[in-house]
Amino acid sequence: MPLDILIVEDEAAIQELIAVNLEGAGHRALRAADSEQALAIIRASLPDLVLLDWMLPGRSGLTVARQLRSDARTRSIPIIMLTAKSAEQDKVLGLEAGADDYITKPFSPRELLARIKALMRRRAPQMTEDLVEVAGLRLDPAAHRVSGNGLRLDLGPTEFRLLHFFMTHAERVHTRTQLLDQVWGDHVFVEERTVDVHIRRLRQALEASGHDALIETVRGTGYRFTAAA
Ligand code: CA
Repeated sequence: MPLDILIVEDEAAIQELIAVNLEGAGHRALRAADSEQALAIIRASLPDLVLLDWMLPGRSGLTVARQLRSDARTRSIPIIMLTAKSAEQDKVLGLEAGADDYITKPFSPRELLARIKALMRRRAPQMTEDLVEVAGLRLDPAAHRVSGNGLRLDLGPTEFRLLHFFMTHAERVHTRTQLLDQVWGDHVFVEERTVDVHIRRLRQALEASGHDALIETVRGTGYRFTAAA
């Protein structure tokens, strides 16, 4: 799945090398040379992941990481720190500031892409193309197909994203606000009852194989996808 990846790196040659490799892997590369540019890009639109250089002119990458983690809107963006520092103490500082992972320069593009993939699996499995299966319900993100006990099920694009999120975050209760943030995305101003409309459509689409029962309404809170239903 193509990701919007923000590269925050002041060394032009390194920024270019990373961007070329990300684009070669099918991602979209956004570029910033310092923390101000990075924050401006993030204000306009949330990237799916940030590659954050530690040593930047002005505010350091460490400061930017802390800032992103302290704001509800940007709190859950996956961050990989790029650093020339490899001392244990520095790694600890980076992780404490809120980075999910760090990679020490110089690194190979292959290593970087592997780290990105691993981090997305951990932090945002609904953004990967891994096939998911729960209780006979199978969702294939690459082919954009859903089947229940072998029966092909037809879902609209929003219901597909909603189901993908549910299946990769099963057994947890999600509020309507959380679902809006995770499935509808950033800067989207829609009413919470829109969620209910799409849940209803999703349940209808899953009825054919009886998998509609996997989506539970949790009174006063939201919804839960559960294999235990
Ligand atoms: Ca630098």
